[in-house]
Amino acid sequence: MRIKPILGMCMLTLLSCATSCRPKEFNLSSSVSEIVIADGAETDSVVINGSDGTCAISHAPEWVETTVADSVVTIKTQPNTGKDNRADSIVVTCGASSIIIPINQGHKATRLEISEVKKLNFSKEGGTQEVKIDTDGSVKAEATDGIEASYIDGKLIVTVTPNTGDNPIKGTVKLVAGELTKELPVTIAGNICPTCKGTGKIVCRKCHGNGYLDAPGAMTMMGRFGCPSCGGAEYGAWIKYGKGKQTCPTCHGKGK
Ligand SMILES: [Zn+2]
Ligand SMILES: [Zn+2]
Repeated sequence: MRIKPILGMCMLTLLSCATSCRPKEFNLSSSVSEIVIADGAETDSVVINGSDGTCAISHAPEWVETTVADSVVTIKTQPNTGKDNRADSIVVTCGASSIIIPINQGHKATRLEISEVKKLNFSKEGGTQEVKIDTDGSVKAEATDGIEASYIDGKLIVTVTPNTGDNPIKGTVKLVAGELTKELPVTIAGNICPTCKGTGKIVCRKCHGNGYLDAPGAMTMMGRFGCPSCGGAEYGAWIKYGKGKQTCPTCHGKGK
Protein backbone atom coordinates (compact mmCIF):
# COMPACT_ATOMS: atom_id res chain seq x y z
CA MET A 1 0.00 0.00 0.00
CA ARG A 2 1.60 3.24 -1.11
CA ILE A 3 -1.38 5.49 -0.61
CA LYS A 4 -0.73 6.26 3.05
CA PRO A 5 2.58 8.10 2.66
CA ILE A 6 1.17 10.15 -0.22
CA LEU A 7 -1.85 11.09 1.88
CA GLY A 8 0.45 11.97 4.73
CA MET A 9 2.45 14.28 2.51
CA CYS A 10 -0.74 15.89 1.29
CA MET A 11 -1.81 16.49 4.87
CA LEU A 12 1.54 18.06 5.64
CA THR A 13 1.30 20.35 2.63
CA LEU A 14 -2.21 21.39 3.61
CA LEU A 15 -1.15 22.02 7.20
CA SER A 16 1.83 24.21 6.27
CA CYS A 17 -0.35 26.00 3.74
CA ALA A 18 -2.79 26.91 6.46
CA THR A 19 -0.08 28.99 8.11
CA SER A 20 2.21 30.17 5.28
CA CYS A 21 0.13 30.20 2.09
CA ARG A 22 -2.35 32.68 3.53
CA PRO A 23 -1.54 36.15 2.16
CA LYS A 24 0.63 38.07 4.62
CA GLU A 25 -0.43 41.31 6.18
CA PHE A 26 1.86 44.32 5.99
CA ASN A 27 1.90 47.75 7.54
CA LEU A 28 2.31 49.63 4.26
CA SER A 29 3.37 53.22 3.74
CA SER A 30 4.38 55.16 0.64
CA SER A 31 7.19 57.64 -0.07
CA VAL A 32 4.60 60.32 -0.93
CA SER A 33 1.09 60.74 0.47
CA GLU A 34 -0.20 62.00 -2.90
CA ILE A 35 1.10 62.04 -6.46
CA VAL A 36 0.74 65.50 -7.97
CA ILE A 37 1.71 65.59 -11.59
CA ALA A 38 1.81 68.15 -14.39
CA ASP A 39 -0.50 68.14 -17.40
CA GLY A 40 1.77 66.40 -19.88
CA ALA A 41 3.03 62.87 -20.50
CA GLU A 42 4.82 62.63 -17.19
CA THR A 43 6.74 59.89 -15.41
CA ASP A 44 7.00 59.59 -11.65
CA SER A 45 7.60 56.87 -9.09
CA VAL A 46 6.50 55.99 -5.57
CA VAL A 47 8.21 53.62 -3.16
CA ILE A 48 5.98 51.31 -1.12
CA ASN A 49 7.55 50.61 2.26
CA GLY A 50 6.85 47.78 4.67
CA SER A 51 6.15 44.86 2.32
CA ASP A 52 8.22 41.85 1.25
CA GLY A 53 8.51 43.36 -2.22
CA THR A 54 5.78 41.35 -3.91
CA CYS A 55 3.19 43.96 -4.76
CA ALA A 56 0.72 44.46 -7.58
CA ILE A 57 -1.47 47.30 -8.80
CA SER A 58 -5.11 46.59 -8.07
CA HIS A 59 -6.47 49.88 -9.40
CA ALA A 60 -5.21 52.72 -11.56
CA PRO A 61 -7.11 55.28 -13.67
CA GLU A 62 -7.12 54.67 -17.42
CA TRP A 63 -4.96 57.76 -18.01
CA VAL A 64 -2.12 56.28 -15.97
CA GLU A 65 0.13 53.42 -17.04
CA THR A 66 1.63 51.67 -14.02
CA THR A 67 4.36 49.13 -13.45
CA VAL A 68 5.58 47.79 -10.14
CA ALA A 69 8.95 46.18 -9.42
CA ASP A 70 10.71 45.68 -6.08
CA SER A 71 8.24 47.90 -4.20
CA VAL A 72 8.73 50.76 -6.64
CA VAL A 73 5.63 51.85 -8.52
CA THR A 74 6.40 53.71 -11.74
CA ILE A 75 3.63 55.74 -13.30
CA LYS A 76 3.32 57.31 -16.74
CA THR A 77 0.48 59.68 -17.44
CA GLN A 78 -1.31 60.52 -20.66
CA PRO A 79 -1.44 64.29 -21.31
CA ASN A 80 -4.45 65.97 -19.73
CA THR A 81 -5.96 68.00 -22.57
CA GLY A 82 -9.09 68.90 -20.61
CA LYS A 83 -9.88 72.19 -18.91
CA ASP A 84 -9.85 70.77 -15.37
CA ASN A 85 -7.51 68.85 -13.10
CA ARG A 86 -8.29 65.16 -12.85
CA ALA A 87 -8.06 63.13 -9.69
CA ASP A 88 -8.20 59.41 -8.93
CA SER A 89 -6.21 56.90 -6.88
CA ILE A 90 -3.74 54.12 -7.41
CA VAL A 91 -4.26 51.08 -5.19
CA VAL A 92 -1.22 48.90 -4.53
CA THR A 93 -1.75 45.49 -2.95
CA CYS A 94 1.01 43.58 -1.20
CA GLY A 95 -0.14 40.27 0.30
CA ALA A 96 -3.36 40.87 2.22
CA SER A 97 -2.72 44.59 2.61
CA SER A 98 -3.45 47.50 0.30
CA ILE A 99 -2.48 51.13 0.20
CA ILE A 100 -4.35 53.90 -1.61
CA ILE A 101 -2.31 56.70 -3.13
CA PRO A 102 -4.31 59.64 -4.52
CA ILE A 103 -3.13 60.96 -7.88
CA ASN A 104 -3.90 64.42 -9.18
CA GLN A 105 -2.98 65.63 -12.65
CA GLY A 106 -3.11 69.29 -13.58
CA HIS A 107 -4.43 70.65 -16.85
CA LYS A 108 -2.75 72.63 -19.58
CA ALA A 109 -2.19 76.30 -18.77
CA THR A 110 -3.16 79.10 -21.14
CA ARG A 111 -1.54 81.80 -18.98
CA LEU A 112 1.83 81.96 -17.19
CA GLU A 113 3.11 85.21 -15.70
CA ILE A 114 5.69 86.20 -13.10
CA SER A 115 4.29 89.62 -12.27
CA GLU A 116 6.13 90.93 -9.22
CA VAL A 117 9.81 90.33 -9.95
CA LYS A 118 12.14 90.17 -12.95
CA LYS A 119 14.98 88.41 -11.09
CA LEU A 120 15.87 87.04 -7.67
CA ASN A 121 18.86 88.22 -5.68
CA PHE A 122 20.12 86.32 -2.65
CA SER A 123 22.78 87.37 -0.17
CA LYS A 124 25.79 85.08 0.23
CA GLU A 125 24.02 83.46 3.21
CA GLY A 126 21.46 81.96 0.78
CA GLY A 127 17.89 81.32 1.94
CA THR A 128 14.38 80.93 0.54
CA GLN A 129 12.21 83.35 -1.43
CA GLU A 130 8.66 83.04 -2.67
CA VAL A 131 7.40 84.43 -5.96
CA LYS A 132 3.76 84.73 -6.99
CA ILE A 133 2.90 83.00 -10.26
CA ASP A 134 -0.19 83.87 -12.23
CA THR A 135 -1.40 80.81 -14.12
CA ASP A 136 -4.52 78.78 -14.80
CA GLY A 137 -2.87 75.38 -15.18
CA SER A 138 -0.19 73.12 -13.84
CA VAL A 139 3.38 74.40 -13.61
CA LYS A 140 6.70 72.61 -13.43
CA ALA A 141 9.78 74.34 -12.05
CA GLU A 142 13.32 73.44 -13.08
CA ALA A 143 16.50 75.08 -11.85
CA THR A 144 20.20 75.11 -12.60
CA ASP A 145 22.75 73.55 -10.19
CA GLY A 146 22.74 74.81 -6.62
CA ILE A 147 19.19 76.15 -6.83
CA GLU A 148 16.09 74.31 -5.66
CA ALA A 149 12.78 75.40 -7.13
CA SER A 150 9.30 74.05 -6.63
CA TYR A 151 5.86 75.26 -7.61
CA ILE A 152 2.95 74.88 -5.17
CA ASP A 153 -0.48 76.49 -5.49
CA GLY A 154 0.40 79.70 -7.33
CA LYS A 155 3.73 80.11 -5.60
CA LEU A 156 7.25 79.47 -6.78
CA ILE A 157 9.55 78.64 -3.88
CA VAL A 158 13.26 79.09 -4.54
CA THR A 159 15.90 77.94 -2.05
CA VAL A 160 19.65 78.41 -2.38
CA THR A 161 22.51 77.28 -0.16
CA PRO A 162 25.15 79.74 1.10
CA ASN A 163 27.81 80.82 -1.40
CA THR A 164 31.22 80.51 0.23
CA GLY A 165 33.15 81.56 -2.88
CA ASP A 166 34.28 85.07 -3.79
CA ASN A 167 32.28 85.38 -6.99
CA PRO A 168 28.51 85.51 -7.29
CA ILE A 169 26.72 82.39 -8.54
CA LYS A 170 24.30 82.98 -11.36
CA GLY A 171 21.56 80.56 -12.33
CA THR A 172 18.07 80.31 -13.72
CA VAL A 173 14.70 78.97 -12.68
CA LYS A 174 12.60 77.83 -15.62
CA LEU A 175 8.85 77.48 -15.36
CA VAL A 176 7.02 75.27 -17.82
CA ALA A 177 3.24 75.26 -18.12
CA GLY A 178 1.90 73.47 -21.16
CA GLU A 179 3.56 75.19 -24.13
CA LEU A 180 4.37 78.29 -22.08
CA THR A 181 7.74 78.92 -20.45
CA LYS A 182 9.17 81.71 -18.30
CA GLU A 183 12.69 82.17 -16.99
CA LEU A 184 13.73 83.89 -13.79
CA PRO A 185 17.43 84.76 -13.34
CA VAL A 186 18.83 84.05 -9.87
CA THR A 187 22.00 85.52 -8.36
CA ILE A 188 23.61 84.46 -5.10
CA ALA A 189 26.16 87.02 -3.93
CA GLY A 190 29.65 85.81 -3.05
CA ASN A 191 32.21 87.18 -0.59
CA ILE A 192 33.10 89.96 -2.99
CA CYS A 193 31.06 93.09 -2.32
CA PRO A 194 28.21 93.12 -4.86
CA THR A 195 28.02 96.94 -4.90
CA CYS A 196 31.62 97.66 -5.92
CA LYS A 197 32.49 94.20 -7.32
CA GLY A 198 35.41 94.00 -4.90
CA THR A 199 37.16 97.27 -5.83
CA GLY A 200 36.10 99.07 -2.63
CA LYS A 201 35.10 102.09 -4.70
CA ILE A 202 32.05 103.21 -6.60
CA VAL A 203 31.56 105.92 -9.20
CA CYS A 204 31.01 109.27 -7.44
CA ARG A 205 27.27 109.81 -7.13
CA LYS A 206 27.55 113.56 -7.19
CA CYS A 207 29.64 114.06 -10.35
CA HIS A 208 28.94 110.68 -11.99
CA GLY A 209 32.67 110.06 -12.26
CA ASN A 210 33.58 113.32 -14.00
CA GLY A 211 35.45 114.81 -11.04
CA TYR A 212 33.83 118.21 -11.63
CA LEU A 213 30.44 119.89 -11.45
CA ASP A 214 29.11 122.39 -13.93
CA ALA A 215 28.72 125.88 -12.52
CA PRO A 216 27.33 128.00 -15.34
CA GLY A 217 27.69 131.70 -14.70
CA ALA A 218 30.05 131.31 -11.76
CA MET A 219 33.44 132.97 -11.98
CA THR A 220 35.25 129.68 -12.31
CA MET A 221 37.59 128.10 -14.77
CA MET A 222 35.57 126.89 -17.80
CA GLY A 223 32.27 127.23 -15.93
CA ARG A 224 32.91 124.28 -13.65
CA PHE A 225 34.45 123.44 -10.31
CA GLY A 226 35.97 120.36 -8.80
CA CYS A 227 33.55 117.85 -7.24
CA PRO A 228 33.78 118.15 -3.44
CA SER A 229 32.34 114.66 -2.92
CA CYS A 230 35.30 112.86 -4.46
CA GLY A 231 38.21 115.08 -3.42
CA GLY A 232 37.87 118.08 -5.72
CA ALA A 233 37.89 121.72 -4.63
CA GLU A 234 34.57 123.50 -4.78
CA TYR A 235 35.86 126.99 -5.50
CA GLY A 236 38.97 128.66 -6.69
CA ALA A 237 40.45 130.14 -9.79
CA TRP A 238 42.11 126.85 -10.72
CA ILE A 239 40.19 123.66 -10.78
CA LYS A 240 41.17 120.85 -8.49
CA TYR A 241 39.34 117.91 -10.00
CA GLY A 242 37.96 115.15 -7.86
CA LYS A 243 38.89 111.53 -8.50
CA GLY A 244 35.38 110.67 -9.72
CA LYS A 245 35.15 107.79 -7.24
CA GLN A 246 33.84 107.34 -3.74
CA THR A 247 34.40 104.77 -1.03
CA CYS A 248 31.86 101.95 -1.43
CA PRO A 249 29.08 102.47 1.14
CA THR A 250 28.29 98.73 1.34
CA CYS A 251 31.74 97.39 2.28
CA HIS A 252 33.32 100.70 3.41
CA GLY A 253 36.16 100.26 0.95
CA LYS A 254 37.10 96.71 1.98
CA GLY A 255 35.84 95.08 -1.25
CA LYS A 256 34.43 92.06 0.69
ZN1 LIG B 1 32.62 113.40 -7.56
ZN1 LIG C 1 31.86 97.47 -1.81
